Amino acid sequence: MGEKIFHHIIPVREAMLVDDDTLCYFLSPDGDIEPAAEIRADLVTRNARGHKWITIGHCTNFDPATGCLGHSREEMEARSLVRF
Ligand SMILES: [Zn+2]
Repeated sequence: MGEKIFHHIIPVREAMLVDDDTLCYFLSPDGDIEPAAEIRADLVTRNARGHKWITIGHCTNFDPATGCLGHSREEMEARSLVRF
C-alpha cells in the first residue's frame, strides 16, 4: 500500500537517434513488430508537439512532459496485460 510503480521512460529526442533494431525492440507495443519507419514518424510527431518523454510500457497515467505519473501496485496487478 502506498508504494508507487513507474514505467520506464525514454527521452523522445534520444529515441529519435537510436538505430532501427533498438527502436523496434523497445517501442513495438505488445510485442507486435511495428515498422521502424512508423515508430520514427510517431516520434517526430510527438517531438513536434513538444512531448519530452515516451514510455516503453503501456501507461495509462502518462504525462508527455514529465513521464509516468505512477501507479499503485493494486492497479498494476489488476491489469494483466501490463508489461513493465
Ligand atoms: Zn505508467
